[in-house]
Amino acid sequence: MSFQVKILGCGSALPSKHRYATAQVVTHNTHPFLVDCAESTQIQMNRFGIRTAAIKHIFISHLHGDHFYGLFGLLSSYGLLGRENDLYIHAHPDLQKMLEGEYSPIKLNELGFKTIFVPLTYDSVQLIYEDKAIEVYSVPVNHRIPTCGFIFKEKPALKNIRPEMITKYDLSIAEIVAIKEGSDLHLQNGETIPNTELTIEPPAPKSYAFITDTLALKSVEEAVKGCNVLYHEATYDKTLAERAKLTFHTTTAQAAQIAKNAGVERLIIGHYSHRYGNDQIKSLLEVETQEVFKNSTAAEDGMEFTV
Ligand SMILES: [Zn+2]
Ligand SMILES: [Zn+2]
Repeated sequence: MSFQVKILGCGSALPSKHRYATAQVVTHNTHPFLVDCAESTQIQMNRFGIRTAAIKHIFISHLHGDHFYGLFGLLSSYGLLGRENDLYIHAHPDLQKMLEGEYSPIKLNELGFKTIFVPLTYDSVQLIYEDKAIEVYSVPVNHRIPTCGFIFKEKPALKNIRPEMITKYDLSIAEIVAIKEGSDLHLQNGETIPNTELTIEPPAPKSYAFITDTLALKSVEEAVKGCNVLYHEATYDKTLAERAKLTFHTTTAQAAQIAKNAGVERLIIGHYSHRYGNDQIKSLLEVETQEVFKNSTAAEDGMEFTV
């Protein structure tokens, strides 16, 4: 199993020459999922070698420009490149109205592929996507407009069979499948070999939470409990708690406290206000976060990490 996150942009509101606004690609076992799509997203995907055509699901946290203005260009490019696969967009229902409206810059029915809108809801944590290996949950947060974070949770993998047991008991494919799913082995002489003797436990499932933009919330702390990695916005340094409250954002110290209380392994912060110069991201914002929660890293564009 592989589970990686590539940061395409970790700034807020205004793009700068050092960082673009929010977008990231979560790749699980070669399946890439796009999370938010700021105006620079296509450029960054090209720059970092992301296979854009392989993206089948896009998750948009909310309809502020720094999280979705890149969608128009991306959809248009998919059309120009002859995409045929369906594309699922998980977002606020207004996005569908916008893109299907009379004055939409994109004519969805002329793109050559199907766009399927999946509306987010905002009253509780919801399972919004699943396949054989992963589940994605939406997590309502508190921002100036309806907003959701997302949690990517691996499903428990099947057990690994001990290779020597295959030859020892001359196991058939059907027996191997049943044992990997947890069955014991019943031999013809009446003997039963317990599953624990035949298998090795798979690694524990991993999970990744993406939380932006929001006030610091207890409900988020609950939702992300036990996640391996938490990406949480830290728009402001700790002296600007009042400003954060006023604009429905979070400070470094608040994000770190959430990570600490939730017991995550690692915190990545992002969505910095453009008031911070490039050097202050590490020297101020990252340092403040680490004072509360040691295993914290300030994201930068192009950064990749394993969950
Ligand atoms: Zn934002
Ligand atoms: Zn916002």
